[in-house]
Amino acid sequence: KNVNIKKSTSNHEDISTKISAPYSFLAQAFAIIADTSSRITIINILCNMLRVLIIHAPSDILPTLWLCSNTIGASYKGIELGIGPLVLTQALTAVSGATRQKLHQLYKDHGDWGDVAYAVKTSVRTIVEPKPLTITGVFDTLHTVASVEGKGTVNEKCKHIQRLLLAAKDNEARYIVRTCVGNLRIGAVGTTVLIGFARACVLSLTPPLASSLPLSSQQQDTMKLLYRNPNDSKDELIQKMKIAEGLLKECYAQCPNWDVIVPWLLKCGDIKRIFEQCGLTVGVPLRPMLGQITKTMSNVFTKLRSRDFVCEFKYDGQRAQIHMDARGNTHIFSRHLEDMTDKYPDIVRCLPHIKKERTGSFIMDAEIVAINENGKILPFQILSNRERKNVTIENIKINVCILAFDLMFLNDSSLLQLSFRERKLLLKQHFQPVENKFNFVSSIQASGTDLEEQERMQEFFEQSVNEGCEGIMVKVLDHPTSIKSGARNQDPLATYEPDKRMESWLKIKKDYLEGTGDSLDLVPIGAWYGNGRKAGWYSPILLACYNPDNDTFESVCKCMSGFTDKFYKEMKHFYNENDSQQRILDHPRHDYITDFQPDVWFDATEVWEIKGADITVSPMHKGGVGRVDENKGLSLRFPRYLRTRSDKTIYDATTSDILTAMYSNQKNLQQQQHHEEKK
Ligand code: ATP
Repeated sequence: KNVNIKKSTSNHEDISTKISAPYSFLAQAFAIIADTSSRITIINILCNMLRVLIIHAPSDILPTLWLCSNTIGASYKGIELGIGPLVLTQALTAVSGATRQKLHQLYKDHGDWGDVAYAVKTSVRTIVEPKPLTITGVFDTLHTVASVEGKGTVNEKCKHIQRLLLAAKDNEARYIVRTCVGNLRIGAVGTTVLIGFARACVLSLTPPLASSLPLSSQQQDTMKLLYRNPNDSKDELIQKMKIAEGLLKECYAQCPNWDVIVPWLLKCGDIKRIFEQCGLTVGVPLRPMLGQITKTMSNVFTKLRSRDFVCEFKYDGQRAQIHMDARGNTHIFSRHLEDMTDKYPDIVRCLPHIKKERTGSFIMDAEIVAINENGKILPFQILSNRERKNVTIENIKINVCILAFDLMFLNDSSLLQLSFRERKLLLKQHFQPVENKFNFVSSIQASGTDLEEQERMQEFFEQSVNEGCEGIMVKVLDHPTSIKSGARNQDPLATYEPDKRMESWLKIKKDYLEGTGDSLDLVPIGAWYGNGRKAGWYSPILLACYNPDNDTFESVCKCMSGFTDKFYKEMKHFYNENDSQQRILDHPRHDYITDFQPDVWFDATEVWEIKGADITVSPMHKGGVGRVDENKGLSLRFPRYLRTRSDKTIYDATTSDILTAMYSNQKNLQQQQHHEEKK
């Protein structure tokens, strides 16, 4: 209501205009969002805020979407602000006159640097009114901060942050600082922002002037579909928004970069045409497809009844998405889309040799595993010791092999809509093994549900475990329409579905055969001081799963086994109070949900793979609270640490939904066993 933005004439004519809204507009929206836990309200606020910008300051859309996403650029671009407590305290001292001690005390009281900035700024009086900050201005300054490197980095970064903080008023200081530390604490996660933006496009984007873009009559027709029309009924509008949300989600999974999507959307003005420019692109990592956990072999046969499928070894390495364009430029991306090309110069060198004739550009899904001189696959721990920085072919100590399992793009065309059988065939037709460097994953084809087939699969599973793998992946080969009769409506397609955990990919891990269920990926959020032999270290550790619906971490167990003394020492160092990273908090973060009161709280930073006996309902733990019981959560009994998952971020941790599904599966299994015993 109170925002004063100079009005531009039309969002399409004016995309190049640099009219920027005040940053206070965004900061106010963040503050209102932080005050509510209602997802509907959050989406409405985001949507309305973006609508205002679409109409009045379209060039602010891009910075706003990044700032709402807790970052300033796509993860594969490797843009890092690099602002730690050192830069922040220096900038805040300069701006407010508060001493370091005072700032640290305030941090201990609030547990958040944004709140510290807010507290010290409110007591500062300025004689000369600074020029108001703009959204684009803040965003550009943060980019400048990220680009600073070399000698004197801290002072240089500090200078820029100081300038922002000097001009910041009220909530602005809070959210600038929270952006600097990468945690806005507003409970609006990626999908919420995406939905808000899709709705804003339907409600406020307008078709471009017909003359400005050559549109076919069919395109003109589709355009009509996704704009708000004054005559639209409520239902029609809701329908349009649903279509737009689906399209934007799909597009973002294939091309997770607002820098590509937003300029195109503002130019063409039609969310329906989003895939013309923002589909799968070599050099831009897509979000990987994921597998569903399956607890029993017999579940596979129930789920995949009458479908043809393949079983593949599930290697225990690092997932790699390999991109090569027609000119041979290569990128290797990690599971969470970081560019790790520099870590693997040996792979880059080998790639031209894996291509057969007529193979041009491609995007391939693969697992990288460590191998010894005889080509034997080594455990993940060895691979995780591979050097990360300044790797040259000459200094490589740990050799690796690529094991390819999917092909998503070939010779300028997306293969996502093809069936797995077709993609697999193209993979084999266009690529060839290179000894100890590149191969296809070991696999067998299966179909039907007869006993012989089940035994063959069981044997393959055992073989995979004997060769050091985690288990097997079972993948549907064909779309249901092309299969024999007996297909069910809900049968999954055999397409490659970016960013989805699909039933067409099932994973069975050896943990299941040990009879104790799948492991969980949990986030350490707190700890108690150890006693006896463990005095001086942290033990037990409080671990949490992730709830993407409210962006919270819900405690699941207290873990005290599986750790070595060396690990305890390293952990202490990692979380130590004196560490400049400030990983120890005096208060739980606002997004921690638990009834426990550990001696220290950890800032959620890493993911640990934890194995337990079974999952039970707990009054104190809050994993998936509200799903099985209104007030009680789920907890993992007898947890044991297996390893640190450095390939996962805290947002890749086991979700409350998966935890609940595991609990239900376990209950079904127990009932089944009980039933069989009775029989
Ligand atoms: P996990 O924690 O079990 O590794 P995840 O969440 O990383 O799982 P999922 O899709 O659930 O991902 O499990 C498949 C993972 O297993 C992939 O991310 C990949 O790194 C690895 N993998 C190993 N072999 C294969 C294979 N043949 N097909 C697919 N993924 C494989």
